Amino acid sequence: TTFQTLQLSRPVLKGLGQLGYTRPSPIQSAVIPIALLGKDVVAGAVTGSGKTAAYLLPIIERLLYKPAKISSTRVVILAPTRELAIQVCDVGKKIAHYVNNLSFGLAVGGLNLRQQEQQLKTRPDIVVATPGRLIDHIRNSPSFSIDSLEVLVIDEADRMLDEGFQVELTEILSLIPKHKRQTLLFSATMNTKIQDLIQLSLQRPIRIMI
Ligand code: AMP
Repeated sequence: TTFQTLQLSRPVLKGLGQLGYTRPSPIQSAVIPIALLGKDVVAGAVTGSGKTAAYLLPIIERLLYKPAKISSTRVVILAPTRELAIQVCDVGKKIAHYVNNLSFGLAVGGLNLRQQEQQLKTRPDIVVATPGRLIDHIRNSPSFSIDSLEVLVIDEADRMLDEGFQVELTEILSLIPKHKRQTLLFSATMNTKIQDLIQLSLQRPIRIMI
């Protein structure tokens, strides 16, 4: 497969070209068509597999094709650490470099809270977050909400549980009913705790193990 055969649009292909991505990795070839259909996906994917673009690409395409009438946060990407969240946000901005009117926001610990509040007030289309800080913002920033959420990504779900984010994750999941959102879950390992999380967070997911 090529990125063209995956039916990605021109500005996205241009962004990928600039990043030096010429061919989709196996996880990207498998996940992108299914995610574009709007289905829930569980993917077994380690760092280095290209998992970040595997979820960012279908998300960016979706936002491109279904523009929002009012500005709202439509996608939340949850990551276990601030470093990973910053990295994901960075890759997303690069892929979307030639896409107009697409905004990214960060909600992570260790960065200035007020500054993040100012940014989240503008309701970025895509917010990359660690679970604890996302909940802080939902509780304490009156102008930020995830009521319009369409897609939720749980990246490195196994590490998320290892970091002790179980309670925060459950709270976030409870805010938006699962039949109202598309959920994409990535995990390097699949133990029983992850199976429980899959049960709780996804609806009839397609499982992709590469
Ligand atoms: P990830 O598994 O998402 O952390 O990606 C691992 C590395 O592979 C990162 O440095 C990416 O920039 C790179 N990468 C991801 N997808 C591709 C691709 N299709 N072609 C070339 N490099 C890629």
